[in-house]
Amino acid sequence: MIVVGGGPAGSSTAAFLSQRGRRVLVLEREKFPRFHIGESLLPFARDIWEELGVLDEIDRRFIHKPGARFIHSESGAMFTYRFENAIRPGRPYAYEVPRGDFDKLLLDNAARLGAQVREESEVRDVFIEEDRVRVEVHGPNGTCYEVTGQVVVDATGRDTLLGSRYGLKVADELVTTNVACFTHFENTVRQPGPDEGNIDIVLFDGGWWWFIPFKGTVTSVGCVLQKHFTRSRKGMSAEELFQAALDATEAAQRLLAGARRIRPIGTTGNWSYRCRQYYGHRFVLVGDAAAFIDPLFSTGVLMAVYGARFAAEAIDEALATGDLSAERFAVYQEHATRGADLFKRLVHEFYGESLRRLLVGSHTNPTLRAVITSMLAGDVYRPAIWHGVVMKEGFSRLF
Ligand SMILES: Cc1cc2nc3c(=O)[nH]c(=O)nc-3n(C[C@H](O)[C@H](O)[C@H](O)COP(=O)(O)OP(=O)(O)OC[C@H]3O[C@@H](n4cnc5c(N)ncnc54)[C@H](O)[C@@H]3O)c2cc1C
Repeated sequence: MIVVGGGPAGSSTAAFLSQRGRRVLVLEREKFPRFHIGESLLPFARDIWEELGVLDEIDRRFIHKPGARFIHSESGAMFTYRFENAIRPGRPYAYEVPRGDFDKLLLDNAARLGAQVREESEVRDVFIEEDRVRVEVHGPNGTCYEVTGQVVVDATGRDTLLGSRYGLKVADELVTTNVACFTHFENTVRQPGPDEGNIDIVLFDGGWWWFIPFKGTVTSVGCVLQKHFTRSRKGMSAEELFQAALDATEAAQRLLAGARRIRPIGTTGNWSYRCRQYYGHRFVLVGDAAAFIDPLFSTGVLMAVYGARFAAEAIDEALATGDLSAERFAVYQEHATRGADLFKRLVHEFYGESLRRLLVGSHTNPTLRAVITSMLAGDVYRPAIWHGVVMKEGFSRLF
């Protein structure tokens, strides 16, 4: 079994397969810890951390995130969703994690469970053959070699190694944001007491901001910008774009009063896509390599690790039968897209504007508040009656 990419999707797939006694090789391009965006986790990922045996360590090392506060910059309206109010009880908080440390913890755990992990090992090519897969690897110090296995898992994140190669990616045109700018600050204004670990999401006319506080003094700050905001600012540097967004968002300025930036501004763009098929003969796509939804509700890592669990189950069963044809993996895609479809619905309603108002005004409707809280907590993979209502009617039916 070859896993390409050692982020949450790759390391978790490797860990789940190792737990089932499978031999796994993980090939990761970078040397961990490395910086990565995507630092706010959701409470329902807890089930996965427990299964992987890392819950206690995560709980000890990272700040607890008991809720999500939405602030509307122009009106000043705000509302905090507390995970303890989710419909399904038992997961009252999540974590905010510097991804360098967090991804290393997961990758080390995969190795502890028996996976062989090779860092600084970039996969340059994959050859899918009838009875095996061959992978071309560029390792440290200019080494170049080939490895073979029975199945390859593409967990290369937004690089989408196989999805791009096979033309599987379909862009989501209903999402109206297209660029993110991000960095870390020291000493931003935080919420008091146990709410210190809450994520702040600041909505403004040009997009939205995240403020993700880590344990200690550092906070991840980024903005996700709407096409209409970036279109009129083409040619701006990352710094200029970040500053232009900040100039347009009073509420974000207030949270940054007295804070000091400690990283250059990074940018990324072109998101919200889904691969038409998450699998083929002897291969499976997991995490961002399969699909990426706009990060408004911090859903990426949750989908990556649940996808890893479903993929590992399907691969293990396929290996047990000796039949590694594409159809064996269809069940994996069914399971993985069940949760993703709900998140997609939420994101579409937000960018279609109908949800924007409700996010800061849902105190008037307890049902709506409970459903949104459960979505924000990531309760999308275990059956619930409200899933069907949301998928059929959208959130409009709930108020
Ligand atoms: C602006 C923004 C904000 C986000 N905010 C959040 C958030 O708050 N919460 C959240 O849960 N998610 C968030 N996400 C999403 C989150 O970053 C991803 O969903 C998550 O990292 C997916 O994990 P992954 O393992 O699939 O991919 P990645 O974490 O990207 O890991 C892929 C790994 O593959 C390696 N790799 C790539 N190509 C190769 C190759 N050819 N050979 C070997 N190795 C390779 C890379 O080095 C990398 O380590 C955000 C995303 C964006 C863009």
